[in-house]
Amino acid sequence: MTGPATCPLCGGSDSAPHMLLRCNNHIMKRMHINRHHNAVSRYGEEISKGKLGSAVVTMNACNSEKLSDLNIELPDDIERNISDWVFPTQQNLPTRHQSRPDGVLIMPIEGRGRILDPKQIPLRGRDIHLKEFRSCSDINP
Ligand SMILES: [Zn+2]
Repeated sequence: MTGPATCPLCGGSDSAPHMLLRCNNHIMKRMHINRHHNAVSRYGEEISKGKLGSAVVTMNACNSEKLSDLNIELPDDIERNISDWVFPTQQNLPTRHQSRPDGVLIMPIEGRGRILDPKQIPLRGRDIHLKEFRSCSDINP
C-alpha cells in the first residue's frame, strides 16, 4: 500500500512543484534563491542593454562576485537594494524595507521632461516601475 509521496528532505508532501519551489530544506531554499538571483541577473543584463537601460535602478540579483563567476555584466550603478533617494518621503516608515522587488525602473513621466538619468528626474516627474519577473508560475504551479 502506498500513500502520498513524502519529501525525504523536509517531510512535506512531495511533488514536482514541491521540489522546484516549496521545499523547506535549507539547501533547497538556497538553491531556489540562487536560481532566482541568477535569472534576475540575466534579465537585468538584457534590460540594461536596451532602450530602458538607463532606467534600471535596482535588481534583486546576484552579488558582484557571483555575477563575475556567471560572466554576467550589470552596470555598476545598478544596486541590489532600493536606495533612499528613490522614495525619499518614505525613509522613516517601518514598512520601508519589507519588500524588495526583482527590479526597479525609473523613467520620466511622459510629457514631463526628457531627463533619462533616474537620479536627476524631479520627484514628481518620476514614472516608477516595480518589476517582478516570472519564468514560471511560482505561486500556483
Ligand atoms: Zn521538501
